[in-house]
Amino acid sequence: MKASFHEIAGAISQANRIVILSHVRPDCDAIGSQLALALSLQQLGKEVSAWNEDGLPESYRFLKKSALIHQPPSEAEDFDLAIALDTANQERLGTALRAVRRVNLWINIDHHASNPCYGDLVYIDKIAPATGQIVYEFLLSEGFPLPSAAADAIYAAISTDTGSFRYANVTARTFEIGAELLRSGVNAAAIANKLYESYPKRRVQLLGQILPEVHFDADDQIASMSLTKKTKQQLEIQPDDIDGLIDYVRSVEPVVVAIFFEELPEGKVRISMRSKDDRVDVNKICSEFGGGGHPRAAGARIRGSLEEVRSKVLQRVFHEITKSL
Ligand code: 5GP
Ligand code: MN
Repeated sequence: MKASFHEIAGAISQANRIVILSHVRPDCDAIGSQLALALSLQQLGKEVSAWNEDGLPESYRFLKKSALIHQPPSEAEDFDLAIALDTANQERLGTALRAVRRVNLWINIDHHASNPCYGDLVYIDKIAPATGQIVYEFLLSEGFPLPSAAADAIYAAISTDTGSFRYANVTARTFEIGAELLRSGVNAAAIANKLYESYPKRRVQLLGQILPEVHFDADDQIASMSLTKKTKQQLEIQPDDIDGLIDYVRSVEPVVVAIFFEELPEGKVRISMRSKDDRVDVNKICSEFGGGGHPRAAGARIRGSLEEVRSKVLQRVFHEITKSL
């Protein structure tokens, strides 16, 4: 059963040592949600840790107080309360999960349709465009503090998960929250500049390498890009350099499904999938490969070589496209 904000606030008020976790390869919704909740709870006098497997990506270091977010320690620790944010399933917490030894209560706050509702108190709103929006509504409804660095973090989380307030998941409430955050002092232009107009040179070099290899299938309704380990090594690519590259092919006019294949070191391939049509549910397709996400944005990690995984996934998507459109 869905927990209420009030129950979650009650559990927080009874806890002292709290750990806030999010998923591997964190995006800005993960980082922004963790940071905002951590800062609010710190202001309430709680002892807060905020961990994820990869720590704080370079591209989000501009967020004030973001140094609070760390990789988990090698020795597991005990907590009164653990809160997972924006994490579709518990395994996606990776090493951050293993660093939590004993904990009295688990809270799971998320917006992924594929979330199996792990934890003791569960708040999943699959219509919310960003976990950052849920965290904001929670802080507001429970009268929790929203320090200025937390307001910035929420704004960044919502902006990135909605493609700058552009995607189908945006509601009137999302714009209202944007306005409320701006009134509270958030500098939207400064944040947008850091998020969308401050890339390292290697990202452009990477685009130069992968764009010529873009592959179109099914009368240009499927577009795919691939990134090999070799290219990543050559250009010293960081995980956050790759975020959003899929948008270059997604925005091609006849494309319905865009797929990014990234060769990982441990004999696996990470896929990232986007759909531009409600008739193709990429969460469903990625779930079949052991992943998950949202109907229009999902991902998975699949064992196999880049070529094997490409061929399997492209076949599956081809079948879905020809069946449903
Ligand atoms: P992205 O393609 O940007 O990495 O992720 C798109 C969405 O799918 C995000 O909401 C992300 O959390 C989810 N997602 C990405 N990879 C996986 C995965 O391996 N497993 C699950 N369950 N969800 C994923
Ligand atoms: Mn999210």
